[in-house]
Amino acid sequence: MPAKLSLADIEQLFQAKGHAQYDGEPVTQLEHALQSAHLAEQAGADSALIAAALLHDLGHLVHALPGSPTLDGVDDVHQYRCLPFLRGLFGEATLAPIRLHVDAKRYLCRREPGYMESLSPDSRRSLALQGGPFDEAQAQTFEALPYAQDALRLRRWDDAAKQEGMATPDLAHFLRHCIGAPASCRQDAGAPCAR
Ligand code: FE
Repeated sequence: MPAKLSLADIEQLFQAKGHAQYDGEPVTQLEHALQSAHLAEQAGADSALIAAALLHDLGHLVHALPGSPTLDGVDDVHQYRCLPFLRGLFGEATLAPIRLHVDAKRYLCRREPGYMESLSPDSRRSLALQGGPFDEAQAQTFEALPYAQDALRLRRWDDAAKQEGMATPDLAHFLRHCIGAPASCRQDAGAPCAR
């Protein structure tokens, strides 16, 4: 795999590995990505954040760990694993929410009563491997970070993007019409997606 991915590489990666079932959920990796991006687009997110929604779990597709690592007690650190591959294409407005989407879960477990109980079994299993809910100091540090609010929005779409049979636009829609839009749409200024 190239060190830095192009949009065509990302499309190939989803075609090659996106059919894998999202462990314990009624969706594949590709369906989960499309549903996340669709929810982001419907919520009026800019293209940088739609890209983050589409690609937030790409880290699950760029390693060779077999099956679901969480079942073996392994944290695949997917929120970091994908970043080197995406740096050539995206700025912080996309990379930071991806990097922070696991911390957003740990934050919401601390701050929002009932959130942890609402998580899917795989999310709860990985939570323990990822360090569990934040303590108060960690929560305060998180909420002061740039892009923390975008990471929280992404987390909500992520949690909701596990629905069997949800109709979404296809991968080409997000890669070409949103993420492949002019570079000004992808930068930190966050111009609206050209669609
Ligand atoms: Fe996800």
